[in-house]
Amino acid sequence: MSAVIDVTGRLRKMPVEAADPVAYTIKVGDTRLPLNDLIGHPVQIDFDGVIRCIHCDRMTKKSFSQGYCYPCFRKLAECDSCIVSPEKCHYNEGTCRDPKWGETHCMTEHVVYLANSSGLKVGITRASQVPTRWIDQGAVAAIPMLRVATRQLAGLAEVACKQYVADRTNWRAMLKGETPELDLVAERAAMLEKIQPELAALREVHGEDALRAVDEPGLSLSYPVQVWPDKIKTHNLDKTPSVSGVLQGIKGQYLILDTGVINIRKYTAYEVRFQVTA
Ligand SMILES: [Zn+2]
Repeated sequence: MSAVIDVTGRLRKMPVEAADPVAYTIKVGDTRLPLNDLIGHPVQIDFDGVIRCIHCDRMTKKSFSQGYCYPCFRKLAECDSCIVSPEKCHYNEGTCRDPKWGETHCMTEHVVYLANSSGLKVGITRASQVPTRWIDQGAVAAIPMLRVATRQLAGLAEVACKQYVADRTNWRAMLKGETPELDLVAERAAMLEKIQPELAALREVHGEDALRAVDEPGLSLSYPVQVWPDKIKTHNLDKTPSVSGVLQGIKGQYLILDTGVINIRKYTAYEVRFQVTA
């Protein structure tokens, strides 16, 4: 066996492209490798123990918020708790950690969507992140439901939806390819009906245009998976720094190896040696 690829560098979240199937690239340092063509090949990932913050390059023992050192985690707007709980956005109170960042990332149009990743779920994303966000979650289909003026309003609409539907993906089911058939157009109509009181209350305060129901079409997505795992075993670079196996597929931000799955996004900022053999 000879190595066809042997690169070392810091891992990043995998860039994706909404092709049929979704086209994946893995980023290792400055190298970008198209991954779909490598399915069927043995790959090896070795973590050398070094994690470098993706913001400041500082070495850190532990990665916070998927790739940051602790000082950055405490300081950056993108690591604030309102990113996880957008309804708690505090930009309007004048306490945003970085108002400039907030203006470009939060005080802009967001989409509240329904997706089928492991069943019906609700989610929000910045308008420019459609359909990247859907692919990162491994959704097989998704549909925009509302276009809203800010991240906080998207969060508040999502909270209303969470009374009726999950906001999380069951990633084990997602990776097994276990997704029910769903009519997202019908689900969207039903959800908009259910959250009518909450939407009316938000529009009363923020204006009619701040939360617009949309009838945009949905998107179906397929993933480059040759063999679906029937049992999910996860690789953990913190516990086992050397991972190898035959690449059988890619879905969400996961590589599916015949020896287990690995969430590449979780290891953002980890310095690794990535090898593929012919
Ligand atoms: Zn840092």
